[in-house]
Amino acid sequence: MTGYKRVLLKLSGEVFGGGQVGLDLDVINAIAAEIAEVARSGVQVAIVVGGGNFFRGAELQQRGMERARADYMGMLGTVMNCLALQDFIEKHGVETRVQTAITMGQVAEPYIPRRAIRHLEKGRVVIFGAGAGMPFFSTDTVAAQRALETRCEVILMGKQGVDGVYDSDPHQNPAAVMFDALTYDEFLARGLKVADATSVSLARDNDLDMVFFNLSTAGTIGRAVTGEKIGTTVSR
Ligand code: UDP
Repeated sequence: MTGYKRVLLKLSGEVFGGGQVGLDLDVINAIAAEIAEVARSGVQVAIVVGGGNFFRGAELQQRGMERARADYMGMLGTVMNCLALQDFIEKHGVETRVQTAITMGQVAEPYIPRRAIRHLEKGRVVIFGAGAGMPFFSTDTVAAQRALETRCEVILMGKQGVDGVYDSDPHQNPAAVMFDALTYDEFLARGLKVADATSVSLARDNDLDMVFFNLSTAGTIGRAVTGEKIGTTVSR
């Protein structure tokens, strides 16, 4: 096991809410502690934060809002998660920078890829917020894009309460079977919903591995960055 030098960690909004709307600060603190430990060990960590614990554009659209405006609300929600995570990682003694795809100078730097890479090289955890700044995208797709642009070696997809990728939703179907490994094409052909298809095809086209693992189990971030076989790997 060689371990990674630079990783992109995707944290879904569900994780921040501990399964509820809003923020579960105990959960965020526990994840921040793990991230700080990994960063202190010398691994460079970039993070893309989701926002489903506040708003999902598609859900607001179903309730009558215009989709693009609803998506902007979704993106703004991710920034609140970024600030909470930043706070707790810094309480654990590691420097961080938040960069957002929608400019908001009082709270975060704008997304500047070369500057993000400099921060990573200096050992700062870089947290990317506001998605791509574009409606109709997801933070999964942004995770793949940011990983590619900041030259991360892997996307670590941290999930709330599920160990990896299953053949059906394990919350709905107790007989769901987890995959050890899948190719990008198998993932896409099965129409699996645990990440959106755009993110997986972007990873496929650029040969970037994705590892899906359970954030609700303590210590999994540290294990994933060492390259230990954990969860489900989606690769060529
Ligand atoms: N969003 C968007 N463009 C982006 C990223 C996110 O419009 O580039 C919006 C979209 O409405 C989405 C919401 O932000 O539903 C929250 O992001 P996402 O659903 O990806 O978060 P997660 O599922 O990881 O919690």
